[in-house]
Amino acid sequence: MSKLLRGFKDIFGKEATALTELENSARKIFKLYGVEELRIPALELKELFVKFTGDTTDIVQKEMYAFEDNGGRLVALRPEGTPGVARAYIENNFPNENPVKQFFYIGNMYRAERPQAGRYREFEQIGAEFFGSSAPSADAQAILLLKDIVKDFGATDYKVKINSLGCDKCRPAYRQALIEYFKSSKDTLCEKCQTRLEKNPLRILDCKIDGPKFDANLPVQKLCPECLEHFEEVKKLLDGKIPFEVDPRLVRGLDYYSRTVFEFQAGSGAQNAIAGGGRYDGLVKSMGGPQIPAVGWALGAERTVAARGQVNEPKEIKVFVVSMDKACNLYAFDIMQEIRQSGVQTPCALFDKNLKAQMKQADKIKADYAVIIGQSELNSNTAVLKNLETGEQKQYPRAELVKLLKDK
Ligand code: AMP
Repeated sequence: MSKLLRGFKDIFGKEATALTELENSARKIFKLYGVEELRIPALELKELFVKFTGDTTDIVQKEMYAFEDNGGRLVALRPEGTPGVARAYIENNFPNENPVKQFFYIGNMYRAERPQAGRYREFEQIGAEFFGSSAPSADAQAILLLKDIVKDFGATDYKVKINSLGCDKCRPAYRQALIEYFKSSKDTLCEKCQTRLEKNPLRILDCKIDGPKFDANLPVQKLCPECLEHFEEVKKLLDGKIPFEVDPRLVRGLDYYSRTVFEFQAGSGAQNAIAGGGRYDGLVKSMGGPQIPAVGWALGAERTVAARGQVNEPKEIKVFVVSMDKACNLYAFDIMQEIRQSGVQTPCALFDKNLKAQMKQADKIKADYAVIIGQSELNSNTAVLKNLETGEQKQYPRAELVKLLKDK
């Protein structure tokens, strides 16, 4: 028998329901903010991610599902949404026709990471990308949009961290200061961080392998006046609308960020980020488009569902229709449809087993009521309604039964 691939999972029951609820919350809030859906393919040219996710990232270096297709093209399953969205934005001529655009996407991403709790090889991301504005209010609204989705879904136990990584003007000095700082203790860094030292020293701050490796003397980012003003304005806009903490050590794993970065974190542990994002003012241009600033984020759906935990949904009644006799099947079938049309949940009954087995099935699916049809119900255009919790049962005229269930 074929088995599920490692790091992949089948999702059903409560988790599937919760994921749908999260998607519904997201769609509702995206609409409120006027953010439009963009459906991008799961498969793109590999070079899109190599260039724009960044070839110094773990994602590109060793986590991509990349292969040669039958036409000899090097393709990859998307490990994240942003490069595909930016490509689609440019390729569909938005930069010329309508550059100020807010898009969202919902879809599965693929990363061949080492599987562990909260880390899968296929997982769902809900993401937003705001193009065409470098205004701090774009950053602030992107963050508040994310907060409103998480709130509507019902996850409350999380922290928001923000930071500014500066821009091409002020970041190089910080980068250099970090290289100097870590150089003296290079031997104590993990193997990965030793290679990061020259290529991407900011990522050392984010090492998940052996935790933080700095002391109070760690250099802090000195933002240029423009970046400082931008960051102050973002904070001012967020103040009082969302609790947040400025974390000067917050960096993001991908190469393209500039200025604002943020993370929503739930609980402790290495896989605690439920969402992350930031500004990437250079991305569209580096893809061959015009200089168009952008800010965006991605929310991990499975982790957000896990962070919310179980909730007690308002109870909806569930009815199971049972037919006692082959001759009653059509009548029972019609009643089942009628109850559904009135808006009451009536899972599929197949009438292909004996009464006992059908009642067992009602129990298994945790139905609240059984509607039982026998010859006498068929003859008198009635049905028996049995309360499966109390065991009480009574015969009702068909129309009255449907109305009764609808009103419950
Ligand atoms: P990233 O694109 O790496 O910034 O990730 C954004 C969000 O996606 C994270 O905060 C997680 O919630 C989620 N995520 C990233 N990688 C995984 C994974 N391998 N499994 C499950 N969720 C993930």
